[in-house]
Amino acid sequence: MDDKDNLILRKLVWLSHQCYFPFLYGDDGEMQCNHCFIDFKRDSAESIQNKLEEIHMRQLQKDVEAAGGWENWRKKIHG
Ligand SMILES: [Zn+2]
Repeated sequence: MDDKDNLILRKLVWLSHQCYFPFLYGDDGEMQCNHCFIDFKRDSAESIQNKLEEIHMRQLQKDVEAAGGWENWRKKIHG
């Protein structure tokens, strides 16, 4: 993968990682999120992956707790 593809993929992840516009900072080529504190331009791919996995697992835990447990959450999601 060349630098151009790397930059394009970083931008795609930055734009589609679930946080919306007010939290995304993109002036002067920056690609930061002020909600989850990921620097999509400077952080390593492994660091971005680890941070996003951690965020998603924390959200899943909150959703499961809010549903009253794993079975209730599963029924809510899958019917
Ligand atoms: Zn974010």
